[in-house]
Amino acid sequence: MPTDAERFQEALDAYPDLHGCKRMPEGRFDGSPLGVVLRSIRRNATTRGFGPSDHESPPSEVTPRIYFDFVDDESVNAFAITHNNNGFIAMNWGAPARVYGHFMATLARPDVLEFIGNPAAEDCGRKLTTLDTRLESPDPSVLHRMWDILSSKCFTLARLVPEDYAPRDLVREQAAWWLSNLALDFILTHEIAHILGGHCDFWADKFGLAAIQEAVSSSADTPKTMLRQALETDADASGIGNPLTRTLECAARYLGESGPMRGVLQDEKTAVTLCFLACDTVFKIFERESEGAEDLPWRERTHPPLPLRRIQLVAYFQAVLKTLGRSDLDYSLDGAIDLALATNEAASDRLFGRPRDDAGMSRALGDEGTEHAKEIGLAMSSIQSEIRNFVWAHLGSTRDPETPIS
Ligand SMILES: [Zn+2]
Repeated sequence: MPTDAERFQEALDAYPDLHGCKRMPEGRFDGSPLGVVLRSIRRNATTRGFGPSDHESPPSEVTPRIYFDFVDDESVNAFAITHNNNGFIAMNWGAPARVYGHFMATLARPDVLEFIGNPAAEDCGRKLTTLDTRLESPDPSVLHRMWDILSSKCFTLARLVPEDYAPRDLVREQAAWWLSNLALDFILTHEIAHILGGHCDFWADKFGLAAIQEAVSSSADTPKTMLRQALETDADASGIGNPLTRTLECAARYLGESGPMRGVLQDEKTAVTLCFLACDTVFKIFERESEGAEDLPWRERTHPPLPLRRIQLVAYFQAVLKTLGRSDLDYSLDGAIDLALATNEAASDRLFGRPRDDAGMSRALGDEGTEHAKEIGLAMSSIQSEIRNFVWAHLGSTRDPETPIS
């Protein structure tokens, strides 16, 4: 009987467009903070029933199943595929490395997210040690403590990693971990949505065997790219449910306490705004790491243009808040786009080597944005009945297929 790891590799091998993509070898980042982060992400997926089972226990024979694992490629990407009636989510180890590194670097600056902790403790000129760097002795217990904290999602203890890896201020360090965890959760649930929502099977059925990849690419076949944008929109809408629910749970848990997370979340409004920032950052990093994506014509992209995706995110947040009976928090979103602009666009030059995209935001907020969003909606409604045949409803997709995408 094949192990989960063998099944995973077999699924990757079935897709020629993945060009011989390989599972990340075990232990690759042992001894570094990134190794602990990767383990905790995998464990998070496993506890939801999506990760590899222990090597000791027999693999589950219940199908369909969704398997999650890392693949060995530095470039930022994640993808979803189905094979032999099972779903597979692959994430390059580069995605967590970039996301965590990004939030550490962001919070280590005194001029970004100034309302969190004590920004005066930070220093503009400081260069952080990257999280994949092995920890020097004398303190291997740091990794054990970090694992305990990350795996229990308890953020009330002390500093997780030595100061040269992270912001100096403890509250800002906690904020960086928390935002990174939320961002990774969003990537994972976005991929789950591609599988449960029937996107992968539909795509394979309609266009042959091709993985749904998160690297933004282009094609002149605009009916096809608009269909992809519709699927991405659908996955975004479904994918934010989990991070937003977790954010409100965290707020309920920590806001009565005096620990560092109180200083991060501050109140429910701030917590929701920060969750929005975490999701927006995923868009920004994926866009930035896809060579030339920012200059592609809007209709020739596999993913909606970032400024429009950012605006659509507000509507998805409102929809989830409504489902949770928390529409009273809608007002939190008033400042969400501004915070994303101030953090991810204002810092764009410094962090991503690219000036902020004010022109793109104006386009997205004007008639062109409205027209493009309508076109995505039309693409989705043109395939809605077809796609329903591929939905993995028995695994409990939370999305109501009757709800139109707007
Ligand atoms: Zn996607």
